[in-house]
Amino acid sequence: MVKLVVTFLGTSAAVPTEGRGLPSVALKREGEVIIMDCGEGVQRRVLSESLGLGSDMTILITHLHGDHVTGLLGLLQTMSMAQRRKPLNIVGPSKLLKWLEVTSDLLHIGLTFPIKFSTAKPGFVLRTSGFRIRAARALHSVEAFAYRVEELARPGVFYPEKARALRIPEGKLWSKLQKGHAVEVEGRRVEPSQVTGPPRPGRTIGYSGDTRPSSRLARFFSGCDLLIFDSTFRGSDIDKAVERKHSTSVEAAELARNAGVRELVLTHFSARYTNVASLVKEARRVFPKTVAAADGLGIDVAYPD
Ligand SMILES: [Zn+2]
Ligand SMILES: [Zn+2]
Repeated sequence: MVKLVVTFLGTSAAVPTEGRGLPSVALKREGEVIIMDCGEGVQRRVLSESLGLGSDMTILITHLHGDHVTGLLGLLQTMSMAQRRKPLNIVGPSKLLKWLEVTSDLLHIGLTFPIKFSTAKPGFVLRTSGFRIRAARALHSVEAFAYRVEELARPGVFYPEKARALRIPEGKLWSKLQKGHAVEVEGRRVEPSQVTGPPRPGRTIGYSGDTRPSSRLARFFSGCDLLIFDSTFRGSDIDKAVERKHSTSVEAAELARNAGVRELVLTHFSARYTNVASLVKEARRVFPKTVAAADGLGIDVAYPD
């Protein structure tokens, strides 16, 4: 069972509060890390959550609003101080690369590692060691993207009786087959498909960034195991959500229900709410499997079956 843990590094909207930092979410799976948005101060959170400055890492930026992106430069600098060598994947709007180039130049930042930049666009964006990443347009006051991070398919169910029938000794060879690798037994080659069922889908995490709800996003997030959605305002503040191009907790819940996701996490809370319990309560009336994000909260995402 491979662990896939989602950790919230910052959960406030626009400005930090005493208990909440600016937006950032990390996904960790077998040494691979995906960070979605980089609010100011994210490098301290990356250290405290032991995500590893030298990890196999991909950073997804939803849009170019300061609260989602200013932490990126500090993170890159900290990585360089730690002598990172491994290339770093960054996905985001095209102007993100320009911003990085200009500020790195002005501030004399020399990176110790290469950046592999991919411009965000609707559809497939990038395949990493363990995931396939897709993007869709979000509805915000500037160009913005939502991301869907799909774990690659895992090997099918293992049938011990089939392995025994093929005279494969239990132990190392079984474990290799279970992981999807072919083995040699008594000079014969045995393919994993001979002893396992069809490959099973992996887990899928959706991240909206800042957005109004839309039917396009409901389709895009269809069937996600975990959906992390903009919940800047409570239901009764919908006029503010419409005006500032964000969502309310109730709208996030409606979208989660329409998309048929397994679990919803509300995040990006306006600093006006010192307690978000009422936002969760009203969302649960629409979509019961709702929780509120908090800085440092970790969610172990289970397989759907
Ligand atoms: Zn924001
Ligand atoms: Zn924004």
